[in-house]
Formats: sequence, structure tokens, C-alpha cells
Amino acid sequence: MSFLTLKGVRKSFGPQTVVHDFDLEIARGEFVTFLGPSGCGKTTLLRMVAGFETPTAGTIAIDGRDVTHLPPNARKVGMVFQAYALFPNMTVADNVAFGLKVAGRPKSEIRTRVEEMLALIKLGHLGARYPYQLSGGQQQRVALARALAVRPQVLLLDEPLSALDAKIRLSLRQEIRDLQRKLGITAIFVTHDQEEALSVSDRIVVLNEGRAEQIGTPFDIYNHPRTRFAASFIGTLSLLEGEAAGGNRMRVEGQEIAVPAEAHPAGRPLTLALRPEALSLAPSPARTNRLEGTIEDVDFLGSVVRMRVRLGQTTLLMDNFNDPSTPPPERGAKVALHFAPGDGQILDAPLAA
Ligand code: ATP
Repeated sequence: MSFLTLKGVRKSFGPQTVVHDFDLEIARGEFVTFLGPSGCGKTTLLRMVAGFETPTAGTIAIDGRDVTHLPPNARKVGMVFQAYALFPNMTVADNVAFGLKVAGRPKSEIRTRVEEMLALIKLGHLGARYPYQLSGGQQQRVALARALAVRPQVLLLDEPLSALDAKIRLSLRQEIRDLQRKLGITAIFVTHDQEEALSVSDRIVVLNEGRAEQIGTPFDIYNHPRTRFAASFIGTLSLLEGEAAGGNRMRVEGQEIAVPAEAHPAGRPLTLALRPEALSLAPSPARTNRLEGTIEDVDFLGSVVRMRVRLGQTTLLMDNFNDPSTPPPERGAKVALHFAPGDGQILDAPLAA
């Protein structure tokens, strides 16, 4: 059952369409991330859910209620922005109380709720401080408490971590996720950071130029990217350009390999995406699905050894776990690589004829 539904949502600014007929169904309690490069329309989509922008076409519904044309304060959404956006002249407690005061809640209820919220973000002792007396991470937790205090149905997070330094970013993203789970609140999180998206989301929407390129779990998106864009935007990978050689075989750089199961008409150009960890050095006697190349570079990273392998015009990256008993091959060594056919992914494949 969908709790938050976007149907055919489009947004144009003058002649420029920045979100194209976008469909998405989000379940109650789900944590969904909009991931994409700058300008792909993530914030515009979020602002339409919040009510700060009106769609040019399409509808948005929350819990079965059409909210497309409702103002933000009638939607029961809470929003956290990139810049903390706290009221600088109000204490932490007054910031958290703000939405409740606007809604005219009784004083005793406001006091209890503010205490509850500050305890939830572990800042119970800082209620009397002003925002400038807090660290960036603490300010962002207050912003989160302020958004949650009015008990919204949906929590919208617009790059809430991007102004923080790396260490705080890591701990706060986990804190946000724990809190979201604890409260069971439906959340949309916007980021351009793929690692952040992979780590916190139930599902990721990969956006490119105002369109969803792919929607799926982090596991799906990482292991089975469907388009060149989704593949290259997330993680590291190598692309092998070649052509179908009948059945599930592909010819690349004069060698033949097996690729994921679908049959492609012989001669059709194919692009195979391989993650570095999908490749290993083929043991001898070599397994069947092998590619021969030359080691161009070896980067010893500790637990992992990353190797760059040249096959004709193509370079492949391969990550192997460090094996203390076997030093990695040297630059210039001829090697055979192996991968399981199911670990590769054919990109942008036209439907088989
Ligand atoms: P970023 O990560 O840089 O914030 P984004 O993916 O959130 O990018 P949006 O802010 O949604 O992207 O912007 C998408 C496109 O819409 C951009 O080309 C932007 O210039 C344009 N745009 C956004 N708001 C307006 C506006 N009010 N008027 C005109 N164009 C706009």
C-alpha cells in the first residue's frame, strides 16, 4: 500500500522542464533517497512534496489525501534543510517549540513535547542555549527535532549532512536513520553522495535530468545498475565494449566470455559493466570465463589490492582481498582474470529481437 504517491509529476520553470512525468510510490515507514548530480531535480521534487513548489502537472497524495495544491502547513510534512535554518534569536527549546506554538498547542503540551524531542536527539541539557553556541552537528539535530516536534506524517531531508565535516556526517546519518526507524516515520532524503545513499536507504531513486533512471534497493542499484548513468554514478566500475557472439556469449578485445543469461542476437554491440570486486585472478587450471591482460598498475590499499589490467584498448579495475601468503602480481605481468557471468551487468540493452 502506497502512503506517499507521486503520479505523473512534472515541473517546468518557463520553457525549461526540470522534472519529467515522475511516478513513485512510497510505503509507510519507508526511507527513500533521491540521488543524483547537481541540477537533476532532487530539490525541486522534494519542494513539491513539501508544498513550496506546485507541480506543472500530476498529483501528490499523502495517506490517500490529494495534497497537490495544499500549502506546506496543511500537509503534515516536516523538513530539514542543508543550512541549519534555525532561528538565531531563539533558544534551542524555542526553536523546537516553534511549529507547536504556531499551531496553537497548549503550553503544557508544548513543554512536554519539547523535552521529549530534546531527549530524543540527546540534547536535553542544551535547551537554553542559542544556535550560535552549538556545533554544526548539534544545530542539525535541533533542526531535526524542530521538524519532528509537530509529528509530521512525512519527514523531508534536503542534503541535511552536506555542510558538516566528514566524521560528524557519518555519525549523524546513522542517528537520523535510527530515529526514523524508531518513530516509524516515512522519509525522503536528498543527497548527491552515493555512499550516503547506499548506507541509509530502503530504496534509492537515481535521478538524471529530471527523470528516474532506476528505482531499487541499494543492493539492486549497486549490483544490477540498468543504465550507463546509474552504473557510473554509483561506485567504481569498468565498462567492456564488445558485441554479442550468440547465446549468452560476448566478444571483447578478441576474446570470448559468458555474460548474464539473456540471449542477444549475434553481432549486436553490448556494454558489460564489471565491479572491481567481481573480478579475480583466475587460478590455474584456469576457469572457463576468463580474460587475458597485462597488469598496468598495482595499488596496495591494505585489506584490498586494486589492480589496473589492460586488455587491448580497455582497462579493467580488479579488487582482490590481500592474501598475506601471496604477494600481488607485478606491473607488466601477464594475467588471466575470472568473473562469474552473473556478476556482470549488460547496460542499456535493447530488448532482444
Ligand atoms: P543541487 O544538488 O545542486 O541542489 P538539484 O538536483 O537539487 O541540484 P534542483 O535544485 O531541483 O536540482 O534544480 C533542477 C533544475 O531546476 C536546475 O536546472 C535549476 O537551475 C532549475 N531550477 C530550480 N528552481 C528554479 C526556479 N525557481 N526557477 C528556475 N529554474 C529553477
